[in-house]
Amino acid sequence: MTEKLKGIAASSGVAVAKAYLLVQPDLSFETVSVDNTDNEEARLDAALEASTSELNVIREKAVDSLGEEAASVFDAHLMVLADPEMIGQIKETIRAKKTNAESALKEVTDMFITLFENMDENPYMQERAADIKDVTKRVLANLLGKKLPSPATIDEEVIVVAHDLTPSDTAQLDKKFVKAFITNIGGRTSHSAIMARTLEIPAVLGTNNITTLVAEGQLLAVNGITGEVIIEPSDAEQAEFIAAGKAYADQKAEWAQLKDAETVTADGKHFELAANIGTPKDVTGVNDNGGEAIGLYRTEFLYMDSQDFPTEDEQYEAYKAVLEGMDGKPVVVRTMDIGGDKELPYFDLPKEMNPFLGYRALRISLSEGGDAMFRTQLRALLRASVHGQLRIMFPMVALVTEFRAAKKLFDEEKANLLAEGVAVADNIQVGIMIEIPAAAMLADQFAKEVDFFSIGTNDLIQYTMAADRMNEQVSYLYQPYNPSILRLINNVIKAAHAEGKWAGMCGEMAGDQTAVPLLMGMGLDEFSMSATSILQTRSLMKRLDTTKMAELADKALTTCATMEEVVALVEDYTK
Ligand code: PEP
Ligand code: MG
Repeated sequence: MTEKLKGIAASSGVAVAKAYLLVQPDLSFETVSVDNTDNEEARLDAALEASTSELNVIREKAVDSLGEEAASVFDAHLMVLADPEMIGQIKETIRAKKTNAESALKEVTDMFITLFENMDENPYMQERAADIKDVTKRVLANLLGKKLPSPATIDEEVIVVAHDLTPSDTAQLDKKFVKAFITNIGGRTSHSAIMARTLEIPAVLGTNNITTLVAEGQLLAVNGITGEVIIEPSDAEQAEFIAAGKAYADQKAEWAQLKDAETVTADGKHFELAANIGTPKDVTGVNDNGGEAIGLYRTEFLYMDSQDFPTEDEQYEAYKAVLEGMDGKPVVVRTMDIGGDKELPYFDLPKEMNPFLGYRALRISLSEGGDAMFRTQLRALLRASVHGQLRIMFPMVALVTEFRAAKKLFDEEKANLLAEGVAVADNIQVGIMIEIPAAAMLADQFAKEVDFFSIGTNDLIQYTMAADRMNEQVSYLYQPYNPSILRLINNVIKAAHAEGKWAGMCGEMAGDQTAVPLLMGMGLDEFSMSATSILQTRSLMKRLDTTKMAELADKALTTCATMEEVVALVEDYTK
């Protein structure tokens, strides 16, 4: 039966395809006594065999998309599946206890997991424990006749339906087959949404309960521009969605004509349109979309896509690739911003009540536990600086003294490298993200010491409104155009200019078509956004006049009480 729902429009585009449920199945089972133990052993053998062939397929896919090294984790899993000692013990348990295969599997693997986990000095053993957990889940699923979802093996056109997608789930999605995704939770600035826009996969997030409404294989229609989703659309509705998709594609083709054009306003002023990236691979998209710079390279994906802390050389290669790919255009690299919704499997972050308010980003880098990791990153960046126009910025700065401490480490590592005879560029700008209200309020003092600001509105809005950016229950508070947010932004821009520094923005607001006229009016220098929003923004700026936008901004800042009033004003001024 046709059913319609609405979520948060998180990545533009339209798709009609079958549902692929990326949902973990229920793997609970009963322990039962059995007479026929041979049968249980045969069930176990069959489940092991099925798991082995599944893992071989996943491994092959991973080699293709991520390379041999990243795929090696599956070799470890395959080794667990073939471990004669463990399999022997499971069979022994089936016979001795006359119990079903599920229960024997669980008993023996739990024992091995506890054994390895307790050898906590040894990271290799910890990894073995994680491997056994993963493999056990797969074998158990096969014993129970259930399928574990594995996005890497999707090989037909689908719309992925999930409770939530982690950044690493999202990175595994193959654009060729995944035509869109829909989730229960998340908002426009959650990292899965940001990645969806980079990958140009349409996405609707925060639907609350899509996973309980849709069955595997059911036909879905998704509009990532409006946030609409239809389960089992009628022929007429399918046609309507396909037409909307075509209209969007036509619009994109029109914007594409501006790829090599300069970003100039109707009155001839230039603004810098930059892109946000997560990996060196994204640079192609930046150039294809006419990006004039990279305003935010989120380096944490380097850490998240890896099995261990990336080495100085691995990081150097990544930074160098981005700088060279941009061919001398500015590249702002943000030092690692782990924590919040970005976790590292190999870095044991403490469980916190409020991870977004906790030990994260620069707070980790400046702590004893993060010092070595931070210095390694700074060295890699400094070494790469000779390959282009590097700028460095620190995330989540609240205090001037935090900036000073980070800058001191930067200066120390620069001096160390120079003493070692390693070449380092001498014009590296060092700036900060303004994403904590304290820093926005004190921007005049920060501006004396930094080279630039980049306003991170994704976090600045959540902290100013005290509304979690991931939580759809409070998404009504997530108001980029609220006068309170506009005043903070204006304060930051004016403070930068008073000290002769530049101010950019790398939060999603920089590419928001309602916010752009206001930001132009406030004199923002650099707009950094998903590469896929650049041409649309260039097209908008071409028809706007900066004097008129300054008048608009002034009016919004001084006379508006609500977001709705601001939106009405923008509509009025940009007609
Ligand atoms: C921001 O907070 O606006 C920002 C750009 O950083 P991130 O989205 O990675 O937290
Ligand atoms: Mg942030």
